[in-house]
Amino acid sequence: MRYVVGVDLGGTQLRAVKIDREGQIHIYERTDTDVDSGPEGVLRQMEFLINTVVGDTDPAEIVGVGIGTPGPIDPFAGVVLGAPNLPGWLNVPIKAILSERTGLSVEVGNDANVAGLGEWRFGSGRGTEHFIYVTISTGIGGGVIIDSKLLLGHKGIAGEVGHMTIQTNGPLCGCGNYGCWESMASGTALARFATEAVREEMAHGRPSLITEFAGAEPIEGWHVAAAAEQGDRLALSLMQREGELIGVGLVNLFHLYAPECIALGGGVIKSMALLEPHMRRAINQRAMPPYRDTPVQLAQLADKVGVLGAAALML
Ligand SMILES: [Zn+2]
Repeated sequence: MRYVVGVDLGGTQLRAVKIDREGQIHIYERTDTDVDSGPEGVLRQMEFLINTVVGDTDPAEIVGVGIGTPGPIDPFAGVVLGAPNLPGWLNVPIKAILSERTGLSVEVGNDANVAGLGEWRFGSGRGTEHFIYVTISTGIGGGVIIDSKLLLGHKGIAGEVGHMTIQTNGPLCGCGNYGCWESMASGTALARFATEAVREEMAHGRPSLITEFAGAEPIEGWHVAAAAEQGDRLALSLMQREGELIGVGLVNLFHLYAPECIALGGGVIKSMALLEPHMRRAINQRAMPPYRDTPVQLAQLADKVGVLGAAALML
């Protein structure tokens, strides 16, 4: 069996690939997720995409279909328990349904975990045994690979790296807690801190380039990064804090899992050059000596990380 199919179910896009065992993409398809059609409509879209990428390949040559879906899920039973971006998805037995309809064996994983698996097998984690992938964009998610296996834990819900508490009295997180890494260091958090800081500075008659980049729109993380690149003082201090907060979270991950390396992806990480010195300083100040030289590198698979990781579930 030479090929594997991967499907990445997202709230906006649905992607599918047929790859070989080395991760070479033979066919890549994507479409907008028709979320309004509910689970049945989206399942039909998935079935269609799977059939498209399989094409006229002999089914005997296909190991199976790996699917990455937003959580929470039960990866053992292959059931989506509920997905915030997918209305109507409550206890959907996606593995049973799609394996029956396609005649192929199917495995299901949480999208962030699966992305970690993809980056480990085909991207910056290749050749390691202990690896963590962290994506920092609107939220913070990740996947932990220990002893060359994706860490699933009891009920298959391990690896919620974005929800470790960084500051007990910090901002409210989407999960209901306060001061999670996600609520402190995601792109959304950076934008929120920037909005507060800009308001404060304006009150003292000190304008910031951040406002110019944002224009009439609400401030976003990339406005801060763009202003910082122009040397804006406030933006630089916000990026310094962002880099430090990323470093603090990484130190927790070093101490918990002792990875050989960590790869970072997601929109916020596009500004790595600005963040890195501050991230490094936090690591050097906080990590215990044996962990301090753990490499932190950029993820390599960009927007295909999810779909390649989904396929990797079958390998
Ligand atoms: Zn949280």
